[in-house]
Amino acid sequence: MAFNKDVIEAIGNTPLIKLKHASEATGCTILGKAEFMNPGQSVKDRAGKWMILEAEKRGDLRPGGLVVESTAGNTGIGLAVVASARGYRTLILIPETQSQEKKDMLRLCGAELIEVPQLPYSNPNNYQHVGRRLADQLRKTEPNGVLFADQWNNLDNAKAHYESTGPEIWEQTGGKVDGFICSVGTGGTLAGVSRFLKEKNKDIVTACADPHGFAMYELFKHGTAKSTPGDSITEGIGLGRVTPIIETAVVDDAFLISDEEAVTVIYELLEQEGLCLGGSTGINVAGAIRLAKQLGPGKTIVTVLADSGGRYQSKLFNPAFMRSKNLPVPAWLEKRTKIDV
Ligand code: PMP
Repeated sequence: MAFNKDVIEAIGNTPLIKLKHASEATGCTILGKAEFMNPGQSVKDRAGKWMILEAEKRGDLRPGGLVVESTAGNTGIGLAVVASARGYRTLILIPETQSQEKKDMLRLCGAELIEVPQLPYSNPNNYQHVGRRLADQLRKTEPNGVLFADQWNNLDNAKAHYESTGPEIWEQTGGKVDGFICSVGTGGTLAGVSRFLKEKNKDIVTACADPHGFAMYELFKHGTAKSTPGDSITEGIGLGRVTPIIETAVVDDAFLISDEEAVTVIYELLEQEGLCLGGSTGINVAGAIRLAKQLGPGKTIVTVLADSGGRYQSKLFNPAFMRSKNLPVPAWLEKRTKIDV
């Protein structure tokens, strides 16, 4: 018999899926790592698994302990999945602007949720700072330990991708990979995968795809973490500063991707290939297409299908919401959606 002994073992080993139209349009082979197929349905299950299991090894968590995290949602879901399987509780701080679907899923997974206003990182009441303060406070009264997962600074987050996502990509392509590109939320994925692939073959081109309004494009393109103007409807990505994780990334190039470019890709993937994916994946695949055009035909480029479109039905796949953001809405989407507006 072959089976996983629990849900934690079922995290990772996701398939690589050839993206047909992106490949045809560029003459390259563009492959998407299907992270939406993880048990918690996103790339952040891996971070959740590593951050909890490594904390256990260090003795920072004991049975019945509490995991606290500030998250745009997916990390919280990944942590809640792993915590449930190990007998921990989760307390999640989430900006109120994040999709209702992610908040509902977090509650369903047993997390206690605290919604806080969306404030810039420089504001002391930004969700990341509130989470840290709350964890410090709770540490005084929780008998079984409190882990503040701290995904932006916790190197176990990037280690998850250095030890799993990167090696899987290498194995699945038989080492025949010419480029890797993805966007940055914490940078765990980009840092871990880029470092692993570069160690295997320094000629692999690693790149960052960044939405408007954040600093990773300028950092990886020109060396200074300066925010680009504008904003983005994508969730879970966008970083405005250099963190300990970002310092470990080995990145050659960067592409700035507009929401219009990203959502066009998302709609094409759904209409033409049956892949229903979230906004960050639109940034990733649009970036992969740009990288493919730059490297020229015949190359193999890997990117990340970070989470499922079902998580954004009320936003990305809601024509009224998209129109309110002045973004394009394909005619077929009106027919396929029955969201009351
Ligand atoms: N896409 C989505 C949908 C996410 O939730 C995240 C993480 N917040 C990312 C991409 C980026 O992953 P990382 O934190 O590893 O940079």
